[in-house]
Amino acid sequence: MSYRFATRLLHEAFPPDKATGATTSSICQTAAYAQETAEDMAKVFAGKKSGFVYTRVGNPTLATFERRLAALEEGIGALSFASGMAAVSMSIMNIVGAGDEIAASGSLFGGTSSLFRELATYGIRVRYTEENSPDAFAACLTEKTKLIYTETIGNPKLDVADIGALAELAHAHGLPLFVDNTVTTPYLVRPLALGADVVIHSTSKAINGNGNSVGGIVVVGKFPWNAEKFPKLAEFSAFGPMSYLARLSARMRADFGSALSPFNAYLTGIGLDTLALRMERACENAMALASYCRTKESVKVNYPGLPDSPEHELARRQFAGHYGTMLTLSLGSQERAFRFINHLSLALNVSNIGDARTLVIHPWSTIFLHASEEEKARAGVTDDLVRVSVGIEDKDDLLNDFGNALDKA
Ligand SMILES: *Cc1c(COP(=O)(O)O)cnc(C)c1O
Repeated sequence: MSYRFATRLLHEAFPPDKATGATTSSICQTAAYAQETAEDMAKVFAGKKSGFVYTRVGNPTLATFERRLAALEEGIGALSFASGMAAVSMSIMNIVGAGDEIAASGSLFGGTSSLFRELATYGIRVRYTEENSPDAFAACLTEKTKLIYTETIGNPKLDVADIGALAELAHAHGLPLFVDNTVTTPYLVRPLALGADVVIHSTSKAINGNGNSVGGIVVVGKFPWNAEKFPKLAEFSAFGPMSYLARLSARMRADFGSALSPFNAYLTGIGLDTLALRMERACENAMALASYCRTKESVKVNYPGLPDSPEHELARRQFAGHYGTMLTLSLGSQERAFRFINHLSLALNVSNIGDARTLVIHPWSTIFLHASEEEKARAGVTDDLVRVSVGIEDKDDLLNDFGNALDKA
C-alpha cells in the first residue's frame, strides 16, 4: 500500500519510539556516548558495531530527522547540517576542489552567490547562466565542470528550473544535478524523482515553518559516482552509490564541524509534521494575493501562478498545480517600495522566507547589499522590488493589509 504525501509525512520513517512508545522524536541532547568496554568502543569507531561516538559525527535525534527527509524526498539517504548554507557549502566541497568548475543558475539565493564568491578564493570557478534554460547551462559546461547547480524557483527572480531537462543534460556529461528545493519543498516537487542527484534544503524555512531554528539537509539519489571523475570519493568507493554520503558525513560534517544541534532537529521535526497543510494554505493565499495585487494600479506582480507568467506552464507541469508561496511586487521606485513596506501592518519586515507568517523584504538594500550590479541584474533584483513570502493567515486579512499599503504607498 503506498500512501499519499501528507500521510507519508506523518507516518513514513517515523514510527513511535520502540522503547517507550513516544510519538514525537526524543531529544538526545548529548555530546558523547559511553560504551561498556574498551573493546566495544574500538568496534564502534571501526564501524564493526553500530552505535554513536560523538554528536559532531552522529546523533539519534539527527538520524530520525534525516530518515524522515530522505523518505519524503525519495532519496537513498540524507545528512543534516547546522544551517542551509552549511548544507550548500558542504554538499559542493564534498566533490569539488581547486581547478574545478560549477555551472550554476544566474538567479541564486543571495547567500549562495556570496558563498560562490568565497569559493573563488579556493580556486573553484562558478560559471553562471544568463537564464534558467538547459541551453544556457550547456553553454557553461567545460572539461572542468563537476556539477550543475540550480534552485527549483529562483529567489527572488521566481524563474522555474526544468529539473528533468537539466538532469538529462547533466547525465549526458556524466555530471550530477544539484537542486536547492528550499522554496518549493518536497510537497511541491521531489527533484530526485525527476532525475536530480543531490537535493539541498535550508530547513530554516518552510520545512520548519515557524522560524524557530536554523538548519539544513542534503538528500542524495542514486548517481553512479566514479572515482576517476570525482577523485575525492576514491577513499569511499567501497560504499558504491553511498560513497558521496559517506564522505559528506566523515569529511564534511565531522571534519569541518558543521553538525546540526539535536534540539534544533527536534523543533524542525515538529514543524515538519504540518508541512503539507501549511504549504497548501500558503500557496492558496499566494495565488489570491498575486491575483488581487494585480488589480491594483502602478504595481507589477510576478508570480508563477499567474496565467500570463512566462514560468506558468513549466510550474504547472512540475509542481502539480501549485505555484509556491513567494511573489514579488515592483512598485516603480525604492521610495515607494519602502513606503509600501512601512504601511503594512500584518506582514513582518524580515529577511527569511517560509514562515507561517507573511514576510516581506526589500532585497536590493538588504540581502543583495554587497552584490555587484551584474549579480543583481542576473538575479532580477531591482531597487523597486519587494519580495513577499506568503503565510497561512486568513486570506481576506492579507488582501486588506496589502490593498491598504498599496493605496497609501
Ligand atoms: C535561506 C536559504 C538558504 C540558506 O539557508 P540558511 O538556513 O539561512 O543557512 C539556501 N538556499 C535558499 C533557497 C534559501 O532560501
